Amino acid sequence: MADARIAPQTPQIIRREDYRAPDWFVPEIALDFDLDPTATRVQATLKVERNGAHDRPLVLNGDALAAESVLVDGVEAQGWTMDGPDLVIPLTGESHTIETVVTIAPERNTQLQGLYASSGMLCTQCEAEGFRRITFFPDRPDVLSKYKVRMTGDKARFPVLLANGDPIAQGDCEGGDAGDGRHWAEWHDPFPKPSYLFALVAGDLVANKGHFTTMSGRKVDLGIWVREADLPKTDHALHALKLSMAWDESVYGREYDLDVFNIVAVDDFNFGAMENKGLNVFNSRYILADPDTATDYDYDAIAAVVAHEYFHNWSGNRVTCRDWFQLSLKEGFTVFRDQSFSGDQGSKAVKRIEDVRGLRASQFPEDSGPLAHPVRPDEYIEISNFYTATIYNKGAEVIRMMSTILGPQKFRAATDLYFDRFDGTAATCEDFVRCMEEAGGVDLTQFRRWYSQAGTPRVSANLTQEGGKARLKLAQSVPPTPGQPVKEPMVLPLKLKLFGGVTGRPMCDEQLVLLKDAAQEIVFENLSETPVLSINRGFSAPVIVETNRTAKDLAFLSAHDDDPFARYEAMQQLMLDTLVAAVTSGKGEHGAVIEAVRNTLTDASLDQAFIAEAVLLPSDSFIGDQMGVVDPDAIFAAREALRGDLGKALNAEWRAAYDGAQANRFEYSPAAKGARRVKTVALGYIAASGAADAAELAFGQFEAADNMTDRQGALTTLVNGNSEKRTEALESFYQRYQSNFLVLDKWFQTQALSSRDDTAQAVEALANHKDFTLANPNRARALIGAFSVNQRAFHDVSGRGYRFVADQLIALDRLNPQTAAKLVPPLGRWKRFDAGRAAKMRAELERIVATPGLSKDMFEQASKSLD
Ligand code: ZN
Repeated sequence: MADARIAPQTPQIIRREDYRAPDWFVPEIALDFDLDPTATRVQATLKVERNGAHDRPLVLNGDALAAESVLVDGVEAQGWTMDGPDLVIPLTGESHTIETVVTIAPERNTQLQGLYASSGMLCTQCEAEGFRRITFFPDRPDVLSKYKVRMTGDKARFPVLLANGDPIAQGDCEGGDAGDGRHWAEWHDPFPKPSYLFALVAGDLVANKGHFTTMSGRKVDLGIWVREADLPKTDHALHALKLSMAWDESVYGREYDLDVFNIVAVDDFNFGAMENKGLNVFNSRYILADPDTATDYDYDAIAAVVAHEYFHNWSGNRVTCRDWFQLSLKEGFTVFRDQSFSGDQGSKAVKRIEDVRGLRASQFPEDSGPLAHPVRPDEYIEISNFYTATIYNKGAEVIRMMSTILGPQKFRAATDLYFDRFDGTAATCEDFVRCMEEAGGVDLTQFRRWYSQAGTPRVSANLTQEGGKARLKLAQSVPPTPGQPVKEPMVLPLKLKLFGGVTGRPMCDEQLVLLKDAAQEIVFENLSETPVLSINRGFSAPVIVETNRTAKDLAFLSAHDDDPFARYEAMQQLMLDTLVAAVTSGKGEHGAVIEAVRNTLTDASLDQAFIAEAVLLPSDSFIGDQMGVVDPDAIFAAREALRGDLGKALNAEWRAAYDGAQANRFEYSPAAKGARRVKTVALGYIAASGAADAAELAFGQFEAADNMTDRQGALTTLVNGNSEKRTEALESFYQRYQSNFLVLDKWFQTQALSSRDDTAQAVEALANHKDFTLANPNRARALIGAFSVNQRAFHDVSGRGYRFVADQLIALDRLNPQTAAKLVPPLGRWKRFDAGRAAKMRAELERIVATPGLSKDMFEQASKSLD
């Protein structure tokens, strides 16, 4: 017998190659909940069917559950056992009815997985493996069941009882003590679904109700459920839902399939939102908006997340995943769909720029660090750790590349085929790619490496001219990643075009080059002038491109390229080259950037949102990502110097842009959003110039603002500075919003992101503020998460930032492992820093790994980060 005291605490590794079809199916399940925050009784009745000829017992997953009774076909079961957390029942026949009873305590559930309490309501989160914290069940996505749910609870406390599917009946409990003020409701979901899509909500909620009539004439009742006080903040989400429903019909031919669609906003939530069938549960930050409390960024994010979860009804629910290694099948595809939707609501180019910026900020570092993994991983310890930028955002890029290769018509034919062929089933990434091949008439054998190889491909593109000829030499390589030392060439769809360096005229049509080999050459003939290369237009492949273009070429493209993304990209590259040179040499040559920014800023043909994106300098961390050894202080100094010079040299232009962007009254439209964005960017440069009136200007904007975008923009500018208006603004913001926890998150976050040199101390103090709590994930992320991506502050040479974050993560892990584990990656970047910082970062990771009682979520993230 193993000695528990010396048994190594090495959690089990789950491997993709070990996949086996389920031993037992569960075509039907009936759940009966007696709801109570301290003790909820859950009775589950499962119809189980043996899958094929075998003699293995029925294994029902559990997590911290104790079976109070187990019945097989109505009689007390004999011989059931527990295998760790799981319930094992030997069965003799081909099909049986299993009944179990457990009691759980939602109020004590701080992990926010399974059934938990949030602001007085009860709600669930089951993806990926939370259902096993509610009842015993084969908790894997390839077991699909029809659900019947009955809930009983106190009517005053829980007047609203919601679950998946359609409402069937409801009523008051009658007679005796049991009936005292209690009521019940029943919901049936006719669509078989995996357990991770189960949801229930019980609470004192009201709904903003709407209707949508689908393309075949089905009338759907829509409801956005919130606390009564929040009702005025739900119109934007409801509107976004209707837009999403119409968009999925017109773009993908996909229609909604139930009579009701409900969304509930919850204050305590581990991530953005969840696509439970017919009952989406959302982090309230992705529902609630009004001009006074939400920024334009928030408005856009709400629409994107509402769309994302709605689109999952097809890409995720009607066709689900066979196993969790296939997670990107639903997430990558659904992100691609929500990105396309958002692009269609405003400027496609600006949306693409935002998405690429996000990819570079989160996915590229992941792909070059210790937690790099393929879009379809091969193994995991805790699946929650794999809800990553790679699965979501690189996954979306992989779908985008296939749509580029196929073209719009064939891509649509391929998604039709996919939805038709796999409707009602649990599918794989391979199934999806095969549909692309069949309907697209293409061979994607080599392309599949995008699913299996981790790491961001690097492309070098060198254009040389010999008389009337130009030769483009392309080469690619994929860097080694953990467990994958050697890589094969990928298929890279590169959109490219040449422009005349003198006339600015296009010298050819845009071409789509599929780079498949390690190297390839393309020759352009009959050139009448010196060409300038525009490559990876629209960011057609998620790669890092290195070219031999000069500062002059980049400045030229930033003014003349006819692809807005490429124009932005040329400017970014010019800025990056300038900053990296400044960091390494210690002195900056800023003339070319200043002229390029001046050109863009004063180009009347450009839309304001684009201008605001294009003139923003790359972030500290993105500059760091370009360097062998990151020097946070030198990077900060170089970036501030360039900001200062841009502010001074273009003072008149920033002032003009600022004044021109003074909107009258709040309006949520692409034009008004663009104007606000330019305004705050210009304000930032005016402040960077050291202008004497900058703080007054910012404070004036702060006080006069009729919307959160302007107010927070002004606050950020003040918080980064040293004026006495800083304290006044922070105090006034706090007083005004202290009872609104979503806005209070912004108060914490803005301070955690401050570029001041006392930010580490300030953040330590804020962790002791009476409004700070680790129990709410949004609040924890607003302070700890934001601070740890503030490159300069987090990497304070003393190491206090590392120690502080590690302390917080160890404390958070005891409450909420999922949320804690998500915050580990910044510490895992130690290899990129000097020996002194690296040693301090490692020491904190080691301290985390050595913590007694560490969750497997944290163990996996922290121990892999040490390698
Ligand atoms: Zn999703």
